[in-house]
Amino acid sequence: MAVALVTGGSRGIGRVTAILLAETGYKVVVNYQRNKQAADEVVNTIREAGGIALAIKADIGDELQVLAMFAEIDNAFGPVTALVNNAGILFQQSTIENLTAERINRVLATNVTGYFLCCREAVKRMAYRHGGEGGAIVNVSSAASRLGAPGEYVDYAASKGAVDTMTTGLSVEVAAQGIRVNCVRPGLIYTEIHASGGEAGRVDRLKESLPMKRGGQPEEVAEAIVWLLSSKASYVTGSFIDVAGGK
Ligand code: NAP
Repeated sequence: MAVALVTGGSRGIGRVTAILLAETGYKVVVNYQRNKQAADEVVNTIREAGGIALAIKADIGDELQVLAMFAEIDNAFGPVTALVNNAGILFQQSTIENLTAERINRVLATNVTGYFLCCREAVKRMAYRHGGEGGAIVNVSSAASRLGAPGEYVDYAASKGAVDTMTTGLSVEVAAQGIRVNCVRPGLIYTEIHASGGEAGRVDRLKESLPMKRGGQPEEVAEAIVWLLSSKASYVTGSFIDVAGGK
């Protein structure tokens, strides 16, 4: 049975992706950092529907915690065959004059180092050269990597630029090892991440600027992620799907 790890699987896009993957037949690991209640709710929802799921607390930016999480998955479910690098953070909207080194480093630790560490551990388990059977990785970036998030969070946008570049490089590096690496770039999606930036109603403020004139739902992003992980996307690697209402 396929084993999927969804980082940040307890809320928002990750939550819906975890539930959809379980419905599709994966054993699902719901990773979270702080909110155990939310993670347990996702696991219970999956189990009540007859699926198999496990919540694991780990800060993806902390190497030892990532190692411990992958070891726990090995023991509980067997090696990961599908990775959704989804856990991401941003902070209060700000121009660049007010960004501190501490804040920039926190954004990069989760959004970049965390993605690298999870890819590294997944590749060690999936690659033919390590005795694996291949696998698939989806990195959740953002339309911000193309647009830059001026006046809001250029640090966050730049971290997503790194995710895009990492997707391109890694996809080529591991293509002959049976591993596909792709990227989904959501636009304005209704989740709690916007409250972290100090504007819970951000999607509704900006939706008229989108060609489709509406914000997106987490389900619309999850469908793209699940497709990219599936065998239906068997010849797709190093690709980017913008789920952003046309912007
Ligand atoms: P969200 O609702 O704020 O949820 C974030 C999730 O990430 C939570 O499960 C959180 O767990 C987890 N998390 C945060 N830091 C973590 C860490 N260091 N280690 C492990 N887990 C961590 O976010 P979202 O809107 O669903 O965003 C998901 C992804 O989509 C992010 O990469 C984001 O950048 C990207 N994205 C979102 C939008 C949008 O409009 N929503 C647009 C473009 C891209 P806890 O609750 O336990 O902290």
